[in-house]
Amino acid sequence: MNTAMNPTESPSTAKSYDFLVDSEGYYGEFGGAYIPEILHQCVDDLRQNYLKVLQSDDFKQAYDQLLRDYVGRPSPLYLAKRLSERYGCKIYLKREDLNHTGAHKINNSIGQVLLAQRMGKRRIIAETGAGQHGVATATVCALMNMECVVYMGKTDVERQHINVEKMKMLGATVVPVTSGNMTLKDATNEAIRDWCCHPQDTYYVIGSTVGPHPYPDMVARLQSVISEEIKKQLLAHEGRETPDYLMACVGGGSNAAGTIYHYINDPRVQIVLAEAGGKGIDSGLTAATIALGKMGIIHGAKTYVIQNEDGQIEEPYSISAGLDYPGIGPMHANLAKQKRAIILPVNDDEAIQAAYELTQLEGIIPALESAHALGALPKMKFKPTDVVVLTVSGRGDKDIETYLKANNPEFITNH
Ligand SMILES: *Cc1c(COP(=O)(O)O)cnc(C)c1O
Repeated sequence: MNTAMNPTESPSTAKSYDFLVDSEGYYGEFGGAYIPEILHQCVDDLRQNYLKVLQSDDFKQAYDQLLRDYVGRPSPLYLAKRLSERYGCKIYLKREDLNHTGAHKINNSIGQVLLAQRMGKRRIIAETGAGQHGVATATVCALMNMECVVYMGKTDVERQHINVEKMKMLGATVVPVTSGNMTLKDATNEAIRDWCCHPQDTYYVIGSTVGPHPYPDMVARLQSVISEEIKKQLLAHEGRETPDYLMACVGGGSNAAGTIYHYINDPRVQIVLAEAGGKGIDSGLTAATIALGKMGIIHGAKTYVIQNEDGQIEEPYSISAGLDYPGIGPMHANLAKQKRAIILPVNDDEAIQAAYELTQLEGIIPALESAHALGALPKMKFKPTDVVVLTVSGRGDKDIETYLKANNPEFITNH
């Protein structure tokens, strides 16, 4: 906590309970902008413009209209009766899986491409791991007639063949990255390198609440439509805007940030987030950043990072490509540190089981990422009167192969 801050300068001096970003771009001790000199101008331009644009009538009108007519918002808040019965409380599912392109990521891509246009940029670049953010961004670029280049680790290009073909069909250029382990971390480094070389005409769309300030705050704001809708929908269903629990999975943290945004400073609402335990937090094959991470700097932000003794970033592992990130958004690191949120590691097998459970109880096949949020349910103790809102961040079509393989008993014992 920065106690030296001048009260007249900082809107966040009521600091004891303010979990949104402060005027310096920090969440407690996390966040900031640790970037190479050559990017200062780009990031500073963005910092000076993002709030002005996001709060302008012109932007809001275009953004709201696309969310409604193109994405299909508001996404339903669905009372899952059989799941509720199983866990002895009232569980509502926020259905981001029903969005165009199948997840919450499009909310952010639309917002950032609209911003890029208003900043006079013509060329969009993005990083992608599993390809979900790449597909969302390529979709929006097709819609808005913008050039789109997506950096993707070569390993991921091979593993996520369908998403690569979708991006190409949408008109994007997919660049396979061959440095490092050839996965998301390396793709992000390459995108940053591109941005350094083309600061004038290029806008970098980051896919989660990560990266240097103002990205985490900007992405959280663009995803905050999720909690804005939950408030209205819960009022209609339950006669009150506040649930007892909010639950979501965390990779970088964007669907979780959107889910909690308008409740973050309301202590009546408990926040429970699920991170990817992989094969178990002690197995060496994990992406559980809160359980294992130490303070470090990753992709321009100060946050918890899974690293070895020498401070080298370790390769994370999760069965879910969307949660396979060695860092976590600075907002979420602070929520964990301040004990505002409970962060539970959910292992591969627990997520798989939860996905089958939701499918069989409710007829909804969730994304593997979302299945981690569901996998946190059996770890909780609810009262019958508790109202829980859990965000289903995406649909499971992309994960069917993994679900099939994992349901084979031989896979479970030998893998
Ligand atoms: C990318 C992705 C995630 C993880 O990203 P966050 O920024 O943590 O939300 C979760 N669910 C789905 C369906 C995704 O595609």
